[in-house]
Amino acid sequence: MKDTFKHQGLRKQLISLLKDKGILDFKVLEAMNRVPRHLFLDSSFEAHSYQNKAFPIGADQTISHPFTVAFQTELLRLKENHVVLEIGTGCGYQTAVLLEMRVKVYSIERQQELFKKTKLFLPKLGYRAKQLIFGDGYKGLPEYAPYDSIVVTAGAPYVPKPLLAQLKIGGRLVIPIGNDPQIMHLYVRTSATEFKKETFGEFRFVPMLEDKN
Ligand code: SAH
Repeated sequence: MKDTFKHQGLRKQLISLLKDKGILDFKVLEAMNRVPRHLFLDSSFEAHSYQNKAFPIGADQTISHPFTVAFQTELLRLKENHVVLEIGTGCGYQTAVLLEMRVKVYSIERQQELFKKTKLFLPKLGYRAKQLIFGDGYKGLPEYAPYDSIVVTAGAPYVPKPLLAQLKIGGRLVIPIGNDPQIMHLYVRTSATEFKKETFGEFRFVPMLEDKN
């Protein structure tokens, strides 16, 4: 589990690519520059881990493209100590980027194999989420609500009502909606009963599935 000068150099190149593609928030870029993405992938993909590509992470799931991670993180407008809920822990890469933004992270994964692997792996890199939970993200996590932000990293067929209900007023939900490709949606809670919606173009995610397995 080494982070060599070579990895750091490749990571810098990836960060400048993300800048060229329109990511402006330097805190997001700096956070991503600190996360050793190659360690989240199977060693057979290591040589490619700093390309803007998605890779398999087991259980038929994929780690998101770096651009997608940057784009979603930027839309959250995070501030230090914000409380954030992530749906779809996967290999934990997005979780690590969130933790590098110095927020408190709760993350839910429905796939048991990935959940167990990532729960062991993240602390080895020093990444400590508040809670990693095996469960169904459609229900959110009411125990720790309300959240400053919620990020969904799988493609949802519709916006789950519990996620909207678990946002603080002023809170932001970033969620890809639709069926291949998905359209990135941002919902901002403007009052107890009102939400402002914006959309941001096409992305590709694995599907958000109901229930755990
Ligand atoms: N953020 C992840 C992306 C993984 S892909 C990363 O950086 O690696 C999306 C993940 O969402 C998969 O691991 C999938 O199992 C999970 N997922 C799909 N439906 C879900 C649901 N209803 N609740 C929680 N996780 C879900």
